[in-house]
Amino acid sequence: MKRYRVKPGSKVDLKEWDPNDRTEFKESKEEGKQMLLPLNQKIDELQELLYAEHRHKVLIVLQAMDTGGKDGTIRNVFEGVNPQGVHIVSFKKPTLDELDRDYLWRVHRHVPGKGEIVVFNRSHYEDVLVVRVHELVPKEVWNQRYEQINNFERMLAEEGTIILKFYLHIDKDEQAQRLQERLDDPQKRWKFNPGDLEERKLWPEYLNAYEDVLSKTSTEWAPWYIVPANRKWYRNLVVATTLIEALEDLNMKFPDAPEEWSKIRIES
Ligand code: AMP
Ligand code: MG
Repeated sequence: MKRYRVKPGSKVDLKEWDPNDRTEFKESKEEGKQMLLPLNQKIDELQELLYAEHRHKVLIVLQAMDTGGKDGTIRNVFEGVNPQGVHIVSFKKPTLDELDRDYLWRVHRHVPGKGEIVVFNRSHYEDVLVVRVHELVPKEVWNQRYEQINNFERMLAEEGTIILKFYLHIDKDEQAQRLQERLDDPQKRWKFNPGDLEERKLWPEYLNAYEDVLSKTSTEWAPWYIVPANRKWYRNLVVATTLIEALEDLNMKFPDAPEEWSKIRIES
């Protein structure tokens, strides 16, 4: 979905990106939900082809504010896709062992191998987001990371990795509503984290940090997509379609097998 791709080198002002946009799919919510099913099936087929061809590697990075919908996107977009074919890696607060090393150390070991799709639920971008907002390292340190990240991702791309990065864009009102829903619903209350309220107070700082990420690290080899995410069904359709387009662009083929194999008859 070209419309949501951040042009490399452009300066992103998130006020200009509408989290309610629905230009690509004007259907109703019910229709929109139905439209995801054939896309799930398509992703499943393309995943099998990716695995069979054993040539390309696919890395998907998901970032968002709290309640932005990273978990829901994973659950919905990969519904019905062979569970063996997709690896999800969630990055939490670094352990002491991880903090003793460079911030890419824990990330690099999880990148996809040939034929694999890996989804990062949070990623190395936390090291220029939460780390910047909470001043966990000095500015001189985080400020160098944009270029380091671009170089890291360029290396992965040059070694055959397709990289797609999605920022799930919700607004502050939508977050209020989602946090309230968590509190009101006994089945969802466990998801509430009082710390999220403290983070919410830092909304402008996070927005700023995200704008820098999107402006400085959307590259030809690893572009960012800003996904309108106030509507969950719309968000799912945008992510699924973008992934399908990227996979189809690979023009993958099943490996050739000898023709005479078709004549083999297996004796019982
Ligand atoms: P959740 O995704 O809600 O399970 O929360 C994971 C938490 O880990 C979030 O609060 C992140 O901000 C935090 N986190 C992830 N990566 C880092 C990092 N590199 N440094 C500090 N905190 C992080
Ligand atoms: Mg959380």
